[in-house]
Amino acid sequence: MNQQSSSGRHKVVVIGSGFGGLFGTKALRKAPVDVTMVAKTTHHLFQPLLYQVATGILSQGEIAPPTREVLAKQKNATVLLGEVTDIDLDKRIVTSHVLGLETLTPYDSLIVAAGAGQSYFGNDHFAEFAPGMKSIDDALELRGRIFGAFELAEIAAARGEKVQDLLTFVVVGAGPTGVEMAGQIAELAHRTLRTDFRHINTEKARVVLVDAAPQVLPPFGEKLGASAKGSLEKLGVEVKLGAMVTSVDQDGLDVKYKDGSTERINSTAMIWAAGVQANALGKTLAEQSGAPLDRAGRIGVNPDLTLPGYPEVFVVGDMISLNNLPGVAQVAIQGAKYAATEIQGRLQGKAPQKPFKYFDKGSMAVIGRFRAVMMVGNKIRISGIIAWLSWLAVHLMYLTGFKNRVTALLRWFVSFVGRDRSERTMTEQQVFARRALARLEGGARDLVSRDDTKAEEALEARRAELENQAAEESRLTDAGERGVAVG
Ligand SMILES: Cc1cc2nc3c(=O)[nH]c(=O)nc-3n(C[C@H](O)[C@H](O)[C@H](O)COP(=O)(O)OP(=O)(O)OC[C@H]3O[C@@H](n4cnc5c(N)ncnc54)[C@H](O)[C@@H]3O)c2cc1C
Repeated sequence: MNQQSSSGRHKVVVIGSGFGGLFGTKALRKAPVDVTMVAKTTHHLFQPLLYQVATGILSQGEIAPPTREVLAKQKNATVLLGEVTDIDLDKRIVTSHVLGLETLTPYDSLIVAAGAGQSYFGNDHFAEFAPGMKSIDDALELRGRIFGAFELAEIAAARGEKVQDLLTFVVVGAGPTGVEMAGQIAELAHRTLRTDFRHINTEKARVVLVDAAPQVLPPFGEKLGASAKGSLEKLGVEVKLGAMVTSVDQDGLDVKYKDGSTERINSTAMIWAAGVQANALGKTLAEQSGAPLDRAGRIGVNPDLTLPGYPEVFVVGDMISLNNLPGVAQVAIQGAKYAATEIQGRLQGKAPQKPFKYFDKGSMAVIGRFRAVMMVGNKIRISGIIAWLSWLAVHLMYLTGFKNRVTALLRWFVSFVGRDRSERTMTEQQVFARRALARLEGGARDLVSRDDTKAEEALEARRAELENQAAEESRLTDAGERGVAVG
């Protein structure tokens, strides 16, 4: 056990090196404080481009620069590797672990930005056959499963065996991640890999997108959802809505439709992009502070992002439940900057800021090359190439590091204008290490959700909930009610 030493300056601990953690730490660069950023990975992950790692467009390094390098010049910042296992709010100490080594880090101010994980709605065993996409491990495993399915189909075809099941890809969840993933797999099969195999016709691959909700992309409102569905179908994606996944095994999955009918879809490459569960540290904070947790495990914070009863603790990003704010990168970035400003202001004796107000810079989802949907505020809704070009510009702007921007641009040129995908390397370890990791204590702890919901929970009740959630997401967007103070 090691207690981090104190220099006498105000100590800020930041948990997480994602959008909230990194931008919060950077925002404190000129402040007279010592910042310790504790995170369980050594990189800052640009999650919005994970699907491009999974489908061979980008390498993992291009979307996950080392935080140590990013913060090398920020003298008041220290990077500490470790999974935070406890936060003692009264003693103001953060406990973290790495490979059995425990570190206690005291703080004067704390910014918690530990994000969210995948939720299987109480069916965590689905994860073994349909991995989610939240980490570099996930993306590399999915890459191996996707490209591996084509390889297995090639071998089967050469032996005269049936290949359709091997060439069926199923994506569960028609939110932005699911839509982007389905679109990319369709382009991979129908365009990129067309000439690479000798025994299979990759253009015959099926890409199926299933969701229990009645529309695609609920957070983008009805009109853009319908437009995205049309674009996906043009790309050859089968979109099945009102389709609730009832079981997943190594050979495929079963869905139940609203009218009671069922369907079995055989597949070896399934991807789960359906649910989100806030980080379990939210529960730790809730238990000590009495702050409420919503069903997705997000913690209710004060309008200034502080934890009720603990003004020195800020919670930002995907972990919070406040005014229906969406779980997007900008909410985390702006929240973390707000918290950093408040910490500095307090040290300078300034009056508190006004409550946190999210400035919506717009949301986008890419469907395929030159096709995207975009919305800005409540009025602007665009689809097609203009949305795609905006996506390109915004993602280049927010990718961390000049080097990564240049290489990403080059790879996009090669993949979208040309037909190549240069990052197709896959290894057996990437595909099969999940189970071994899961056996290590704490190894893959956040790979799947910590949703306590019982697996037996009534299916139709869950369907109704998903439908209501999708309808509410769509309504909030169309009514322009996001980020507006509730009550
Ligand atoms: C596949 C995918 C695609 C997305 N696409 C978009 C998009 O196009 N546009 C958009 O705006 N948003 C998108 N998002 C959402 C966006 O990435 C999140 O809203 C954003 O990352 C939230 O930031 P955060 O700081 O709250 O959490 P994160 O960025 O997830 O960071 C959490 C950090 O906490 C660390 N951590 C977690 N638990 C612990 C622990 N116990 N101890 C120590 N460290 C811990 C993690 O390692 C990570 O560094 C996407 C998300 C995913 C998964």
